[in-house]
Amino acid sequence: MHTVVLATGNQGKLKEMTDILQPYGWDVKAQSELFTTEVEETGLTFIENAILKARYASQQTGLPAIADDSGIEVSALKGRPGIYSARYSQDLHGDLANDETNLQKLLAELEGLPPEQRQASYYCAMVYLQHAEDPTPVIGLGRWYGEILTEKRGEGGFGYDPIFWVDEMQKTAAELPKTQKNQISHRGQALNALVMQLRRGA
Ligand code: IMP
Repeated sequence: MHTVVLATGNQGKLKEMTDILQPYGWDVKAQSELFTTEVEETGLTFIENAILKARYASQQTGLPAIADDSGIEVSALKGRPGIYSARYSQDLHGDLANDETNLQKLLAELEGLPPEQRQASYYCAMVYLQHAEDPTPVIGLGRWYGEILTEKRGEGGFGYDPIFWVDEMQKTAAELPKTQKNQISHRGQALNALVMQLRRGA
């Protein structure tokens, strides 16, 4: 049995990863069971930040680690919010910034733009490091294309999901059942890409 620490505090992500990795003999542990400090995300790309998080988790535990970093990028905004997706409205709201204020800032920035200029994509980098000095990270990437609506639709998901329109489903990400979102989302794609590589090497 290989043990791997997952560098996230998110219970949903932990369950998703455990369900996928367990059948291949992986024992997934949440980093919250092992330590509580966090590394500063100083990278300028999703991949760099995912590596920073995985390396830190490995340093803290002595175990192999998996970390992900994700966000949304909007073409009309030259890729913003990008790696700053979680803290996008901090300039306006300071510590009170949250999913709702982030989403409202994005809607305000795109106000008046027609549908063809509202393309966006969610992006996720998922990284596996065997140990903290591992120079050969295994990297799975995922990108999920959509369009930013002018108002919210749906109650599910989190973050920007209520304004992220998925054309092939004719629904927002917040209207998709969780299992369906997990199958097609940026995170689902990145996780599958990572697991395929780990299975080859396992
Ligand atoms: P993290 O990778 O969990 O730190 O997520 C970064 C931020 O990107 C989140 O706080 C959300 O704002 C946004 N984000 C990433 N993935 C999703 C998603 O699946 N739905 C909605 N927002 C997301």
